[in-house]
Amino acid sequence: MRAQPAPEDWRTIIARTLPFFNRLHRADQEELLGHVQVFLDEKRFEGCAGLELTDEIRLTIATQACLLLLHRKTDYYPRLLTILVYPSGYVVEKNQPVDSLIWEQGREGRLGETERSMGSMVLAWDAARSGALDPSDGKNLVLHEFAHQLDFEDFAADGMPALVSRHDKRSWAEVMKVEFAALRAADATGIPTLLDSYGATNPAEFFAVATEAFFERPCALQRRHPPLYRELQRFFRQDPAAYSSEPAA
Ligand SMILES: [Zn+2]
Repeated sequence: MRAQPAPEDWRTIIARTLPFFNRLHRADQEELLGHVQVFLDEKRFEGCAGLELTDEIRLTIATQACLLLLHRKTDYYPRLLTILVYPSGYVVEKNQPVDSLIWEQGREGRLGETERSMGSMVLAWDAARSGALDPSDGKNLVLHEFAHQLDFEDFAADGMPALVSRHDKRSWAEVMKVEFAALRAADATGIPTLLDSYGATNPAEFFAVATEAFFERPCALQRRHPPLYRELQRFFRQDPAAYSSEPAA
């Protein structure tokens, strides 16, 4: 399936909705389209709240999901079966404990989510589309949620995806610990950061936020967080700084 040529109009759609695609090497574009064919064959998409699914929606999500798989011998998010797409942000009922006896009932607006045991992912299409159209604002909902799925592949949501060697794991753990602590400290004191301060929530969110920055602000990340960039570059086997469109600082 990967070797088959992708349908002609896919390139046109992807080139329009995902500006980064046009700057990839031709060989990478072909590899990516091959992955997208497998991904779309394996995963079930469902439109929610009246959203009519289109090729543009499927391709925008699938192509970005598969960007995280490029150059690696990989499975296709084996724990993920279904992608639910809402037209825009959605509201969930959320009950959370105030203390051991009292629960607070509430509602929370969300743009996307996925969990280790869910087997599914939820995305708001308007946020997915705007995150894709601006490839250098540092925010990308689809890359964020799929980074969580990579993290889940080794069964733990701990911000450490399945790494190749023991050396990689040691080096990853050391760098992430320092960078996560730095983001938490900056967040606590209100210092502006390149990484979205939501990454200070926990190590899993840190990895998802760092993945967004790696693909959307690679030049700035490489300049300001060289060890973090190196770890992500080794894991993703890509050098987005080489094809980034982010404005020079
Ligand atoms: Zn997250």
